[in-house]
Amino acid sequence: MAPGNLFILAAPSGAGKSSLIKALLDKHQDGSMQVSVSHTTRKPRPGEQDGVHYHFVDHNEFKELIGEDAFFEWAEVFGNYYGTSKQAIARTLEQGIDVFLDIDWQGARQIKQQMPDTATIFIAPPSRQELLRRLRGRGQDSEEVIAQRMDKARSEISHYQEFDFVVVNDDFDDALADIESIVTSQRLRQPRQAIRHAGLFGDLLKEE
Ligand code: GDP
Ligand code: ADP
Ligand code: 5GP
Repeated sequence: MAPGNLFILAAPSGAGKSSLIKALLDKHQDGSMQVSVSHTTRKPRPGEQDGVHYHFVDHNEFKELIGEDAFFEWAEVFGNYYGTSKQAIARTLEQGIDVFLDIDWQGARQIKQQMPDTATIFIAPPSRQELLRRLRGRGQDSEEVIAQRMDKARSEISHYQEFDFVVVNDDFDDALADIESIVTSQRLRQPRQAIRHAGLFGDLLKEE
């Protein structure tokens, strides 16, 4: 079986990564894709469930996991630690399932170095003003946290040239269709098609 594809979505906070990944998975409930659940030391927001949105851990537990080399990548974002566990991703990819990571640029860089076939996608907001409106509209962070996230937006955006693909999330459905096109093109890459269609090519190349 061909292993699953790995996709990374990165963007400034509020650009719509989580909503886009959720909409993508809701639309394709055929078991062909999964989102990776990160570990974080951030406190859960109202409505966030442990093990669903994140694995919520404290600083000591996170440090222990780093010591055990449990992370594929980890980074400090907004004063909290975030990390992607190796085990969960490897197991899913081995089953031929595509995995989506919603992580920051530091994590994207670490993973791209280890797995160059990863498709990295940068999600840009249509304007700074709209980014601020979405952060406020989400209604889950204090004004102080929102100001901090707007400050960080510029540094996240300054890395957009390191990504394979760029999607501007202006109209949500258009952005979703763009991501679906990227998924389709990754699935059609030659090395994967060679494995999926080994029988076909064996047949097509048979000497008469
Ligand atoms: P289809 O239903 O006629 O498209 O039959 P396929 O065997 O081509 O695909 C079955 C399912 O696997 C579909 O839901 C596809 O979205 C999904 N799929 C196709 N290619 C890939 C791939 O390369 N990787 C993964 N993870 N899923 C795939
Ligand atoms: P991120 O995961 O990047 O921090 P979210 O997915 O939480 O961002 O989106 C931030 C807010 O913006 C949410 O309230 C979401 O519903 C809204 N949003 C996302 N995409 C769009 C869009 N294209 N148009 C309008 N609002 C959007
Ligand atoms: P939030 O607190 O809004 O859920 O996420 C804050 C930032 O941390 C976002 O940029 C998000 O992509 C990033 N992030 C979430 N999980 C991970 C992770 O496992 N690793 C890394 N490097 N960044 C992450």
